[in-house]
Amino acid sequence: MHNNPLLATSGLPAFHRILPEHVEHAVLTTLEANRVELEQLLAAAEGTDLEFDAMVLPIERLSERLHRVWSPVAHLQAVANTPELRAAYNACLPAISRYATEMGHNQRLYALYQRLGEGPQTARGEGAGRLLELAIRDFRLSGVHLPAGQKARFKTVMEELSTAEAGFEQNVLDSAAAWSLHITEASRVAGLPGLILEPAAERALAAGAAGWLFELDQPTYVAVVTHADDPELRQSVYRGWVTRASDQADYSPGQDNSALIEQILALRHEAANLIGYPNFAAYSLATKMATSVDEVRDFLIELLRHSRDTGRRELQELESFAGRPLEPWDIAYYSEKLRDEKYSISDEALRPYFPLPKVMSGLFRVVEKLYGIRIQPVPGTDAWESHVEFYRLVDVSGREVGGFFMDFYARSTKRSGAWMDQCLNRLWNATDRQVPIAHLVCNFSLPAGDTPALITHDEMVTVFHEMGHVLHHLLTRIDYPSVGGINGVPWDAVELPSQFMETFAWEPEVVALCSGHYRTGEPLPATVLASLRASKNFQSALQMLRQVEFALFDLRIHAEYNPADGARLMDLLAEVRDAVAVVRHPEWNRFAHAFTHIFGGGYAAGYYSYKWAEVLAADAFAAFEEAGLFDADLAQRFRQHVLEIGGSRDIGEAFVAFRGRPAHVDALLKQSGISG
Ligand SMILES: [Zn+2]
Repeated sequence: MHNNPLLATSGLPAFHRILPEHVEHAVLTTLEANRVELEQLLAAAEGTDLEFDAMVLPIERLSERLHRVWSPVAHLQAVANTPELRAAYNACLPAISRYATEMGHNQRLYALYQRLGEGPQTARGEGAGRLLELAIRDFRLSGVHLPAGQKARFKTVMEELSTAEAGFEQNVLDSAAAWSLHITEASRVAGLPGLILEPAAERALAAGAAGWLFELDQPTYVAVVTHADDPELRQSVYRGWVTRASDQADYSPGQDNSALIEQILALRHEAANLIGYPNFAAYSLATKMATSVDEVRDFLIELLRHSRDTGRRELQELESFAGRPLEPWDIAYYSEKLRDEKYSISDEALRPYFPLPKVMSGLFRVVEKLYGIRIQPVPGTDAWESHVEFYRLVDVSGREVGGFFMDFYARSTKRSGAWMDQCLNRLWNATDRQVPIAHLVCNFSLPAGDTPALITHDEMVTVFHEMGHVLHHLLTRIDYPSVGGINGVPWDAVELPSQFMETFAWEPEVVALCSGHYRTGEPLPATVLASLRASKNFQSALQMLRQVEFALFDLRIHAEYNPADGARLMDLLAEVRDAVAVVRHPEWNRFAHAFTHIFGGGYAAGYYSYKWAEVLAADAFAAFEEAGLFDADLAQRFRQHVLEIGGSRDIGEAFVAFRGRPAHVDALLKQSGISG
């Protein structure tokens, strides 16, 4: 196929020229070319003295070439989806995953990296040592070094594990789908928003019934426990939600996850043992910034120790507001009422003060003040949709650092949520001159008529968050893509730059830069901002305790597993709750049976990461509170030791280089209003 835009080797992707029929051809051609070239390289390497760049750069180029093809496809599939594109994308997934498995299990490539690790340390770029270290680590974590019998067993265990994890998730979905609640009296649905009631009435009608037919999904659950005036309705929906896929779910007897949980934990434990780790938590931490199970446990217990009394007081305040002891299905309901009474602030009502162009110019000003970087629009850049804009970042010296596409508005063809994605990675050496390019994607409402797009403060926080990821990706000084930008950054540290930027969105000085009533230009009144800031910490200790409960349960169930006793699921959950929770859970609560974050994969023995990164971000931000919000020397240090290094060094050491000491929890507790 001639002129396939996905096969271009330089410049920005030609988004508007990419068609579904280009996808499979470009992907398969590139995978095949990569295989051939890797083979040639490995053959040439045998029996010769290895020079780092001569070996590693071609391999880095192969990955980046594939990224150049696949990243635009994956991006378009998320922001400009069509049935044809989705089909083309799905058709390539097996080939992409086969290639990744092949690379991850390539014995000769593993041996090559090992030989390079033993070779001379000179004439290598920054991050070279870490690149080898991470590559070798990942090979070993996937069992490449094992003797044949154990390797085969490891492969079987991993396959069974992914089947069991998928089964767990499927049971949660099927169990929820089996639940329904039919209500006919209008008095019982009082308080519920139209957004939930209307579809429920339509469902009842479609089933030939009067009233409302409720199904069990996250929005329904949240709306009912937060807004329904009828405590019995709240209890019914709560009970459905916390018994999904369990022995307590009489509505879905075939979907009890109890046996799958046992199986998943046993398989994970065996996999970790095969690789040489005492338990799965230790295996999971091998790729994290946290160094040991004890360190994570101590960290969570410290958060707990500081939050529990405040959490108790928050619950007491709520119960005295309600005038009675509260059940778990009452908490959200009375919290909402108490919040209204205390702060009477509606995020929606603030929209006129946050026109999107004003927020963005304020955000760009913040970046400029911190790092001396200018962000310039490049009109007319090819994109996938007419509202999309492209910006380039220019350093004080006039050097182009990178660029990013900004796609702000919701469309029916676009995935929901907000995110940063890597469009191109930094690849810089004697031959390659590629600067990093990012995508910043949100889902705001389109501007109507002459009125600019107006966003809530919450959405402003989101833009700041994603901009933190963008800066992390773009400001990297590391020239090897696999350890540049966000690549190679451990999972429990990757939210540091984003949560750090988020904090700025709450500072009066920054809100002043970012707000201005779209008609009058008047900045957000100081009193409104003050109550907005106060409302941010409403029940923050109760929220902290909830996160600590999840994280400690996740850590302990993986760290303390032993084959003789099995998972001890309910006992362990009860122990964690005794130690952490201040809200009492009913005996029939089976929260763990639908905890897809950890039993569906993803966050297993990693749930603590949320809080871990928050602590890093809060402590980094505290340095700016001490030195001045826009202190140039400090910002330079943050850039140099955190934003620029990508995954090229240990983040714990880098943090010490920036802060002069390791992070501790005080700053987060203080920022959350829990102590200090
Ligand atoms: Zn993030």
